[in-house]
Amino acid sequence: MVNEQIYEELSIIHKIYYRGLMSNASRWKRELLWVVTSFFVICLSFALLGQSSADVATTIEKTNTAVVDIEKASQLINSMPVAIDADVEATELVVDGEHIAYFKTRLEADKALIALKNNYRTKSNTPERVSFVEKVEVIEGKVSIYDFDNYMTTEKAVEYLSTGSLETQIYTVVKGDNLYDIAKDNNLTEENIYQANPELDENKYLQIGQELRLLVPKPLLNVKIVKTATLVEDIDFEVEEQKDDSIYEGRSKVLKAGILGKQKVKATITTVNGKEVKRDVLHSEVLQEPSAELLAVGTKVRPKSGPTGEFICPLTSYIVTAPFGQRRYSHVHKGVDMALPVGSSVKASDGGTVTFAGYKGSFGYLVIIDHGNGLESYYAHLNSIDVNVGEVVGQGEVIAYSGNTGRSTGPHLHFEMRLYGTAVNPANYVKIPGLN
Ligand SMILES: [Zn+2]
Repeated sequence: MVNEQIYEELSIIHKIYYRGLMSNASRWKRELLWVVTSFFVICLSFALLGQSSADVATTIEKTNTAVVDIEKASQLINSMPVAIDADVEATELVVDGEHIAYFKTRLEADKALIALKNNYRTKSNTPERVSFVEKVEVIEGKVSIYDFDNYMTTEKAVEYLSTGSLETQIYTVVKGDNLYDIAKDNNLTEENIYQANPELDENKYLQIGQELRLLVPKPLLNVKIVKTATLVEDIDFEVEEQKDDSIYEGRSKVLKAGILGKQKVKATITTVNGKEVKRDVLHSEVLQEPSAELLAVGTKVRPKSGPTGEFICPLTSYIVTAPFGQRRYSHVHKGVDMALPVGSSVKASDGGTVTFAGYKGSFGYLVIIDHGNGLESYYAHLNSIDVNVGEVVGQGEVIAYSGNTGRSTGPHLHFEMRLYGTAVNPANYVKIPGLN
């Protein structure tokens, strides 16, 4: 019990002595402080020593002495700030009424505030009105050593004021988002986002409407810049839709690309920490009118989606030029080749899910449809593709247009069927007229 008291008093003395040294109180005050604190440290150390080494039978007297000393010490310590008048000269920075930091001089505090503003000043010649969103006070004066903690340097202050603490914000994914851009827009890295969202799967796409936690710095001081500038901005174009019964429902095709217009705008722009928060247009002049986009929207009823279990020939008009199993120099032909003009419609042999739609080596442009039960159909050397991976198509639906891409010696469709990954004769599944 007595030991604890002594330790407590020692820590108070240490605190007073340390703060006194840190202060710029006059020299004689600091020396007096040194003498007084040293005296009590010695007194208390003796009391502590007597307390810990004595055995129970002989300690009563010493313990009493120790207690008396502690009482004396307490009295003196309590009266010390008054006796020594230990104030610290400091310039205090106060933001919205809250103490932020102490500086040695007013110059250092001002330097920190100017540096913070300079972080967001643009280098243009346009005059800018730079201020802080918060109410900032710089107060020169004396601080009791009991309240004083430490002086802050200009560099430390700039970092502290602009970073402050981290705050969690919820971000909702919108169409066209990707992690890289979300991170960049919030001054974060993709790694930061993964750390704040441990459940996020790197191999999965972001979903529209999905919520992400963003741990973003919440600055203690926010820099507001107001300037009037003249700039050229885009004017959005309208989209004119027209129904088209040759395109399947849910699909669309741009018939004529829209062109953005341009306008010269004089505006008062307000930014906070470099991000635009307000734009008041004072005057605008159209330089170029936008040109509308023309979009064909499909109305054709889709064939029943998904596999039927039956297969049909993917083409209507063609000449078979190579059957399945034909021997070639280095390999055996894995599909049926059907010659026809570039740009002819290619239909899904049966319904299923598109698992590949793109360019693949000697296949050229290729579509692969998974029909379930281990069966897949391949459509190769295409000129263009109308489907996307993951799309469920119906039997007879036009999925692509024939071509002459990849390793091909003339316009034709290479039609292939695979059972659990091994090419099989399409004739076993589908009747291809003209194939012997
Ligand atoms: Zn072929």
